[in-house]
Amino acid sequence: MAESKQLAQLRPDTDVLTRGFDPSLSVGSARPAVFRSSTYVFSSPEAAERAFDLMGGRGQRSPGENVDLVYSRFNHPNAQILEDQIVPLEPGASAAAVFNSGMAAIMTALLAVLNPGDTILYTVPIYGGTQTLIQGFLQPFGIRGIPVTAGESEAIDQAIRTAKNLKVVLIETPANPTIVMTDIRRACETVAKLEPPGTNGSASHERPIVMIDNTFLGPAFQHPLALGADVSIYSATKYLGGYSDIIGGVALTKDTGLMTKIRSKRSLFGNILQPDECWILDTRLPTVTLRMNRQSKNAQRIAEKLARHPKIRKVYYPTLFGDKEQSRIFQEQCDFPGGLASIDLKGGKRAAFDFLRNLSLARNAVSLGGVETLACHPRSTTHSAWSAKDLDEAGIGEGLVRVSFGIEDWRDLLNDFEHALEQV
Ligand SMILES: *Cc1c(COP(=O)(O)O)cnc(C)c1O
Repeated sequence: MAESKQLAQLRPDTDVLTRGFDPSLSVGSARPAVFRSSTYVFSSPEAAERAFDLMGGRGQRSPGENVDLVYSRFNHPNAQILEDQIVPLEPGASAAAVFNSGMAAIMTALLAVLNPGDTILYTVPIYGGTQTLIQGFLQPFGIRGIPVTAGESEAIDQAIRTAKNLKVVLIETPANPTIVMTDIRRACETVAKLEPPGTNGSASHERPIVMIDNTFLGPAFQHPLALGADVSIYSATKYLGGYSDIIGGVALTKDTGLMTKIRSKRSLFGNILQPDECWILDTRLPTVTLRMNRQSKNAQRIAEKLARHPKIRKVYYPTLFGDKEQSRIFQEQCDFPGGLASIDLKGGKRAAFDFLRNLSLARNAVSLGGVETLACHPRSTTHSAWSAKDLDEAGIGEGLVRVSFGIEDWRDLLNDFEHALEQV
């Protein structure tokens, strides 16, 4: 017990390397082994019965109780190790669940709490897959989706106060690709001030759950659970994975009851992250803060230099925010500005395409968060399903290029960008 007290005081960078993995359970191996078994041998029939009772919710795990593993769609050692090791990276979290994609994490967390007749409020722009999940899948199943514009605190408050049967507030911040920020703490406070359960005449009324898609700035620079949110969600494909070589997702919460619901849906859907992928992702955790710090420094140096370039109309980046309220949210909500910037070139689509064509270090690809620099043209790729009107209103112009900065030497990247701009 003295040991766990000491561990509880460790800082995240240490904790991520030291907790959650017991070498004695992997024949002394200094790093976890991969356990590919689909099924696990019970220590006794009683232990099997107990494991099923706990899974079925017919009992509570007592402190320190060892429960036998059952079957790898429900749980397996590599998922357990990864989940234990990822918790300290998210301030305020007590539990994590890993999934085989970011979309699987979002879908499973939502379906753990939403039922037909419920409402979900979500910020726009939001990740395209999430938008299609809400509009094209949840709506036909009788769940109402209400979009609210990212960053518009007053309108978001109003929507939270007036939405009927509101169950989930889903915020993605910063928004992609224009880096608009939404005030997480304010939304959580507005939710907390809603009428307490039962007082609006409906017995089933519970306080809505606030979920944050924290893929762009977490876990290093933005801490939603510490700001009052209930669930922090990741596409681990991006910064957590960090090398553009794995698809995965994570949901973290401080509410163990909510985590039990999420895990039980994951067992049902069968979208737990597989052992080999868990092992890979586990090797990436100790360096996520190192990588993100370097990526953020690279992005900031280059974004601030390019903002004054004659061929560039505007650079979207937190340290370059012109709007006072956006600057305030950034200062209060984020530790560093992060590795994503969007560059709006004068000369529209032609200029943007010429720029992309002439980059030699940065590669033209979607996705983000890897150690290599990637650039894409949102209007013709990630956001091509949008109407011209919506794109224009959101500031996603013909000349806009989104860049995910890697860990290369920033001077080489700047040369690459300046050279490509000369060819425009
Ligand atoms: C990539 C991404 C997702 C989806 O994640 P996958 O791992 O591709 O399923 C969700 N949200 C954001 C913000 C993303 O960037």
